[in-house]
Amino acid sequence: RFPEPAPRAARSRLLVLAGPTAVGKGTVAACVKQNHPDILLSVSATTRPPRPGEVDGEHYYFVDDAAFDRMIAGGELLEHATVHNKYRYGTPRMPIERALAAGRSVLLEIDLQGARQVRAADPSATLVFLLPPSWDELVQRLIGRGTEDAEERSRRLRTAKVELAAQGEFDYRVVNDDVTRAAAEVAALAR
Ligand code: 5GP
Repeated sequence: RFPEPAPRAARSRLLVLAGPTAVGKGTVAACVKQNHPDILLSVSATTRPPRPGEVDGEHYYFVDDAAFDRMIAGGELLEHATVHNKYRYGTPRMPIERALAAGRSVLLEIDLQGARQVRAADPSATLVFLLPPSWDELVQRLIGRGTEDAEERSRRLRTAKVELAAQGEFDYRVVNDDVTRAAAEVAALAR
């Protein structure tokens, strides 16, 4: 018989931050990480190529399709999904289990499909939905960051409509009109 997994320390929490494209999930998550180094920000694996300035192992683990398949086959991912009908993204399981067992809270910044899988795998996970101040503001932010072409932008806005319609599945909603305040609200839910 295998030993039972160590019980999670009473105050550690598995927190999922999801929300539509360009709402600022990455910025809010980075702000949480900076102000609360005790909270582990999970680093996902992805088949997407790095954007300028993105560092392997810090923003993502950038892997090819074969390596991603091996991670799935090896049971290494807590959840995984194809996002915006294009690249694959997944959450490595081991760092999260280690952190939770050590009493640290963990923040996942993932999409709606991933949030649903985490909830199914761990019903005690806390699901937080990040909202833009308005739809127009979301469109402006997506155009403003200039990292996607027009076709990719409309693809992401289609996904955003689907994601916004699912916000009722989440435990909490946080409006990202001010990054510092939104990050403080998210961090408060982690303890
Ligand atoms: P981007 O390519 O802009 O970095 O991320 C695109 C989308 O993938 C975002 O909505 C982000 O939340 C989501 N994402 C990032 N990592 C993961 C992951 O590990 N699992 C899932 N399901 N989605 C992820």
